[in-house]
Amino acid sequence: MSQLKLEQVEIRYGLTTAVHAVDFQVNQGQIACLLGPSGCGKTTLLRAIAGFEQLSQGKLSLNGEIISSAQHTLATEQRKIGMVFQDYALFPHLSIADNIRFGIRKQPHKAQEQRIQELLELVSLVGYERRYPHELSGGQQQRIALARALAPKPALLLLDEPFGSQDTELRESLAREVREMLKQEGITALLVTHDQHEAFAMADEIGVLQAGRLQQWGSAYALYHQPQNAFVASFIGQGSLLPGKLQAGKLLTSLGELEYSAYEALLDTEEVAVLIRPEHVKLHPSATQSAFITSKVFRGNEYLYSLQLNKQERLLALASSEKFYSVGEQIGVELVPRIYTLVRHNFN
Ligand code: ADP
Repeated sequence: MSQLKLEQVEIRYGLTTAVHAVDFQVNQGQIACLLGPSGCGKTTLLRAIAGFEQLSQGKLSLNGEIISSAQHTLATEQRKIGMVFQDYALFPHLSIADNIRFGIRKQPHKAQEQRIQELLELVSLVGYERRYPHELSGGQQQRIALARALAPKPALLLLDEPFGSQDTELRESLAREVREMLKQEGITALLVTHDQHEAFAMADEIGVLQAGRLQQWGSAYALYHQPQNAFVASFIGQGSLLPGKLQAGKLLTSLGELEYSAYEALLDTEEVAVLIRPEHVKLHPSATQSAFITSKVFRGNEYLYSLQLNKQERLLALASSEKFYSVGEQIGVELVPRIYTLVRHNFN
């Protein structure tokens, strides 16, 4: 059964359309993520799902019940939706136990205490019930915010950039931990973030948004290996888009003829872009094509090299850091034999 469903959702602020005809669904127990750069409409969509924004078109349903349409917006408190924000928003004057209790304070006392203990166990903070938020680290506060949101057993949990205030390394491990907790509770959740590593660590399915439009919805694997357009190809992971020509069923590039997979929509055109990931570029002193090394970044196991192939074409290459080349060197390059992904040509 589909838990959360958006159909042709459009949201306008005056004359500006912030979200255009968005369709997706999140099934029971799934964790989904809306990913995109700042200003793409993620927060607007999340706020509409929470009931804080009205739809100008389309509809939004939860467990088969329409909760928003252009005509009607069910009040936030009637939606059975929990929320976790970047700034935790814990009540500073309430103990940890009372923070978690907040959404279940009308239940019988015994049930409250039992649920608080269950949740403290879930977030690995048993024994912290009498402390106050300022006595906890940022990561611990975020786990309490999660426990508080989960206490009333919401039908859907919304997470708005929940790890945004943590440093980059902590973010990914927190995202993994939170994923495990949500899976343990069987919670259906929707996360919004601009950070793809957070999205990859946490979500089963990811929707990439740009300028209010959903560009692609799929697994992290599909977004990385089968991006449907140039925006997704360049936003997810690293790589370069190399110009290619489709002629008589052959794909020709400056690095020779390549095998390719293309969407039918691309086969009516000659000019395409070929997605080249850095791990598919080999540096090889004896390769026939050469490139100029413009910069390199140490990545531990590997160096990430930026290469200039010719006046217009650039490539990124990942190569073992045991043997290295210098900036300014001319080096042979070749591509790993594989099936390359084509996207619509859009070099501007
Ligand atoms: P994101 O969360 O992806 O950074 P938002 O959903 O906040 O993006 O914003 C999407 C677009 O809608 C932006 O162009 C933003 O300027 C606009 N917008 C957001 N909130 C309002 C508002 N209350 N009034 C007018 N425009 C808004």
